[in-house]
Amino acid sequence: MAIAYISHSDCQLHDMGHHHPEQPARLSAINDRLIATGLEMVLHQYDAPLATRELLESVHDSSYIDEIHAAAPSEGVVWVDGDTAMNPHTLNAALRAAGAVALGVDLVMDGRAKQAFCAIRPPGHHAERHRAMGFCLFNNIAAGAYHALNKYGLERVAVVDFDVHHGNGTEDIVAGDGRILFCSTFQHPFYPHSGYDSEVSNVVDAPLAAGSDGKAFRETVEARWLPRLEEFAPELVMISAGFDAHQADDMAGLRLVDADYSWVTRRLCEQAELSAQGRIVSSLEGGYDLHALARCVEAHLKAFLGEN
Ligand SMILES: [Zn+2]
Repeated sequence: MAIAYISHSDCQLHDMGHHHPEQPARLSAINDRLIATGLEMVLHQYDAPLATRELLESVHDSSYIDEIHAAAPSEGVVWVDGDTAMNPHTLNAALRAAGAVALGVDLVMDGRAKQAFCAIRPPGHHAERHRAMGFCLFNNIAAGAYHALNKYGLERVAVVDFDVHHGNGTEDIVAGDGRILFCSTFQHPFYPHSGYDSEVSNVVDAPLAAGSDGKAFRETVEARWLPRLEEFAPELVMISAGFDAHQADDMAGLRLVDADYSWVTRRLCEQAELSAQGRIVSSLEGGYDLHALARCVEAHLKAFLGEN
C-alpha cells in the first residue's frame, strides 16, 4: 500500500531570518532528494489542510492559541520565544503543520495509506500546552495523537521521538494519559534540559551522553523502547522524526549515521505490524545539516517500503 507524503507550500514561507538553522531550505533539500532518487514517484502526495481550532484545543489552552494568532505579524518578524519567530506566513505554516499530522492519521486509519510522512515546518515537539519554544508553535505530533484517540476511538497510541532534543512539549501534553505511550531518546545534558528525571508511567525517557554513536542508540532503543512498545501494543505508531542526532549535524553531539535511521524505522515498522496493522504516521521535527537531513528522510521512507 502507498506511503502518503503530506506537505504544503505555506511551510516554505515561514522564515525566521537568514541565519536561522530552521530554514525553508530544509524542505527544499528533502524534496530535491526525493525527486533525484525517484522516490517521489512512489509517494502519494497530499496538501496539508489548516488545523481546526478543535484540533489545536485538544493539546493547547484556548488562551495560548489566541496569543499565537494575536502575535502573528502583518509584516516583519516577531519573536515569541528566544529562538522562535513568526513572520506573516508563519501562522498558516504552523496550522498546516498540525493539520498535516491529523490528515496523516485520517489516511492511515481509513486505509488510504499504510504509512504517512509529514514534511512540514515549523516542527512541534517542544511546544508545550501553554508555551512556544525551540522553533515550535503548535505540537503537531500530540495533536495527531489526540485526533486518533478522539476521532477513531483508539485506546493506545505510541509516540516515539528520536530527535536529538528531548520532546518536552509532547511530554508536557501527554504525561499521565495512559492512552499514549511516549518513548524518547535525546542527548543529555542538553537543551531543553528536561526528561532525564521524569517518573511518569506512560513516558519512557532514554537520555544519551554527548558523543554516543549508533551502537549506543540501538542498544538503548532495544533495551528501553522496544519492550515497552511490545507490552503496550499500540494501535497506531507515531514518530517525531528529527534527524539532528546525525553525526554531520552540528546542532548537537550525537553520532548517528544514515543506517541508524533505517534501522530504527524498521524496528518501528515491525512493532506496527504486530499491533497496529502496520499503521505509522511520522512527522518531521529537527535536522539541520541539509545533506544528511535529505538522505535520512530518504532512508526513513525506504524503510517504510522495506527497501533497506
Ligand atoms: Zn531537535
